[in-house]
Amino acid sequence: MEQLTKLICDTEAFKSLKKQFEQNAFSHAYLVSGQDPLLLKKFLVFATALALCPKGGCFKCITCNKVFSENHVDVKKYPSEKGKYFVTDINEIIDDCYVKPFEGERKVYILNDFDTMSVVLQNKLLKTLEEPPENTVFFLGAFNTSAVLPTVKSRCQKIHLDCVDFEKVISYLVGEGINEANAEIAASFCDGMPLTAESYARDKTFFLLFDKVVECVKNLDSSRDSLRTVSQLLSLSNDFKIVLKVMETLFVQTLKAYSDEDLLLLKHKKNDILTIKQKFSQRAVYNILPLLDKAKISLENNCNQTVVADKLVLGILEVRYSCPK
Ligand SMILES: [Zn+2]
Repeated sequence: MEQLTKLICDTEAFKSLKKQFEQNAFSHAYLVSGQDPLLLKKFLVFATALALCPKGGCFKCITCNKVFSENHVDVKKYPSEKGKYFVTDINEIIDDCYVKPFEGERKVYILNDFDTMSVVLQNKLLKTLEEPPENTVFFLGAFNTSAVLPTVKSRCQKIHLDCVDFEKVISYLVGEGINEANAEIAASFCDGMPLTAESYARDKTFFLLFDKVVECVKNLDSSRDSLRTVSQLLSLSNDFKIVLKVMETLFVQTLKAYSDEDLLLLKHKKNDILTIKQKFSQRAVYNILPLLDKAKISLENNCNQTVVADKLVLGILEVRYSCPK
């Protein structure tokens, strides 16, 4: 909790919000966006504590504790466990926000994943966001702000949670008890996203997968290996996108090694990266990165995983030979 508090309080987004509440010059609706979905959700909880704490966000008092333990009667969080917004939720919000707060001066509505709310429901909530009762604050969290109606956006103050520096992600993970080598891998894999990185860093199977992808890339020498590599890569996870992302992480690090070995983020995997560098020319790596993007798009369009993996591995080999060292 201490690490998380430090991480969140250190963001420009939080500092700006704190200032607004201190000066009593806050908005009644905020649209908060950010890359790390887990950090975004936690941020909204901290913002709520800030809005309700009689000491201006101490994170220690009874009020703050109630917010953190989701026991504050004046805080409502949506969507419910079902993870989806229903018309009954919106009706409930519209009716409830006119009821005075029970405990303090304000009521807070946390609307997570607002970008998943249908256009019809967003429209239904519009008037409430436009003219909310005086003592209410809405915190809308959205990963993809393009899915939020322009009319909703114009009624909210927009706050963006920036990506967190690599070093800060590492120090957060190490502070949470993760060893440095694993912290490096998780932080490189989840660039700028500390809490998503933590969720991977706590999953031992992720590191096994990572090492196996490293071996596959290191041993990819000729088209004779391609069938074996494809089946190995496919066997590592039900979600081939994760395998693709590990490959991307490795090749991005290889490019860094080409410009300056000191820039390598995966310092504990330096030997592996240097082996990959020996096999793939800089130009080859530049050409492989778009192949990984293409494969990702194909998966998003529901193409068959085996076909995508097959095409990718052959593409990588082709690039390797057409752009020799
Ligand atoms: Zn407090």
